[in-house]
Amino acid sequence: MATTTVKAYGAAAATEDLKPLDIQRRAVGTADIKIDITYCGVCHSDIHAVRNDWKGSKYPVVPGHEIIGRVVEVGNGVHSHKVGDLVGVGCMVDSCQTCSPCKQDLEQFCENGATFTYNSPDKHIEGKETYGGYSTSVVVNEKFVLRIPKNLDEAGAAPLLCAGVTTFSPLNHWKVKKGDKVGVIGLGGLGHMGVKFANAMGAHVVMITTSPEKGKDAKRLGAHEVLVSKDEEEMKKHHNSFDFILNTIPVGHEMDPYLALLKIDTTMVLVGAVEALKPFHGGNIIAGRKRIAGSLIGGIKETQEMLDFCGEHNITSDIELIDIKDINTAYERVTDNDVKYRFVIDMKSLK
Ligand code: NAP
Ligand code: ZN
Repeated sequence: MATTTVKAYGAAAATEDLKPLDIQRRAVGTADIKIDITYCGVCHSDIHAVRNDWKGSKYPVVPGHEIIGRVVEVGNGVHSHKVGDLVGVGCMVDSCQTCSPCKQDLEQFCENGATFTYNSPDKHIEGKETYGGYSTSVVVNEKFVLRIPKNLDEAGAAPLLCAGVTTFSPLNHWKVKKGDKVGVIGLGGLGHMGVKFANAMGAHVVMITTSPEKGKDAKRLGAHEVLVSKDEEEMKKHHNSFDFILNTIPVGHEMDPYLALLKIDTTMVLVGAVEALKPFHGGNIIAGRKRIAGSLIGGIKETQEMLDFCGEHNITSDIELIDIKDINTAYERVTDNDVKYRFVIDMKSLK
């Protein structure tokens, strides 16, 4: 198949910095859309993938699954978007479309394996992996291309494609409603979106953080209360009081202190710790019939619903805009818990 060479940034090994490199993009097929990338968010998952934290990374890794851009070419079977439209691409670029999860709009759980935006076997270019949004352009099947509401800031909308849907989906699925007491653990890229969404859904939002200095920001973002998880006395005051907790901690951690916060019959959803958790005491979920659940991004239909919700409520991410040359410093700052609250790369800086 004919391909085009485009500029990108990627890592050649787990221990190496990201550097400029050339990658191939496929020619636009009947159902495909070619997007000129304008902005790309920097997710903590990009760092996990580059550093091979979850094993299975194939190099070079070209990360980036919070993609915003303009349509520059469409295949002759495409009707959903046209040249000039502002669009987004999130964590997935393909799935089988025929299995039971795909038919339920849950492509992220495709039984035949969803094709993720980077580091998945590329169905179109033999022997290659998919390459993400740290690049000048991308070609994607129209079913995986999202509409971006016109009122949203372009750069601030980029993180909605992953951080947005990953936090919206569990709040939506577990039906968080007006008056619920909702805890969001971790004020990072995901957490700050969780706070905004839970607030917009009418919940009483408690930011649960290890960083007391983030308290003021948490309130500006929509939290009604701030709970410092290291303060045992304060934690005790909130025992058995939460209707729902969204946990975005990016590493394995102690679960018991957070389980103690849940009311009877309520759920804590993990989205961050894709690794071994510290052992927790069974009694802490047995007493109170409490639940621990997980959630992975969201399907394409739900991603569009989230974007439309953001359009209605004028929700975008709080970002720090960077040039691509500063990506390695940005990675260090994310790892050091020093970003407010999402880095977004201005892709003009790669052109
Ligand atoms: P992030 O920006 O680094 O934010 C994580 C936050 O967690 C930090 O800001 C910090 O908040 C808190 N934290 C960090 N280390 C901690 C520790 N050891 N103990 C307690 N709290 C800690 O990361 P992100 O981009 O939001 O991503 C969060 C995680 O979700 C990552 O692991 C990422 O790979 C994963 N993820 C999952 C999905 C999914 O579909 N399930 C999608 C995207 C990302 P405070 O300072 O407030 O404590
Ligand atoms: Zn992500």
